[in-house]
Amino acid sequence: MENCIFCKIIKKEIPSIKVYEDKETLAFLDINPINYGHILVVPKIHSENLLGMKEKDMNAVIKTAQKTANAIMKGLKADGFNIGMNNYHAAGQVVMHSHLHVIPRFKNDGLRHWPGKKYPENSDKETAEKLRKIL
Ligand code: 5GP
Ligand code: ZN
Repeated sequence: MENCIFCKIIKKEIPSIKVYEDKETLAFLDINPINYGHILVVPKIHSENLLGMKEKDMNAVIKTAQKTANAIMKGLKADGFNIGMNNYHAAGQVVMHSHLHVIPRFKNDGLRHWPGKKYPENSDKETAEKLRKIL
C-alpha cells in the first residue's frame, strides 16, 4: 500500500521506535501515547482492519500484543493494560492499517472507561437475534 504510513514504518521508509519485531508483526511506540509505553502492534501484511485480516496475521498480532503487554507489566511496572482496536472511521480509526493498541495502565492514571447504557425493553433480545442470524 503506497500511501500507508504503517506500511512505510514497516519498510523503514519512515522512522519509528521499535520495541519488537518478528516475521509477521512489528511493535513500536505510538507517537502520541495515552500513557507512556503505549505500543502499536501491526501485521506486516497490509489490511485495513480486523475484517480484512488473515487468520495467520490475527494470531501473530495477538501473540505479539501478549508479549508486549508482558513487557509493559514487567519493564514499566504497570498495574494493568488495555488492548484495543479501532475499526473504521466511525470507531475512531485514523490509520487504515490494522493495528492493536497496547496501553499501559496505572492506578489512578485518571483515564475513564466508556459509559454504559441500558437496553430499552426487549431490544436486547432483538439485537442478539440480528447478530445470531449472521453468525
Ligand atoms: P487509530 O485511531 O487509527 O486507532 O490510531 C492510530 C494511532 O497511530 C494513533 O494513536 C496515533 O498517535 C498513531 N500514529 C499516527 N501516526 C503515527 C506515526 O507516524 N508514528 C507512530 N509511531 N504512531 C503514529
Ligand atoms: Zn499498510
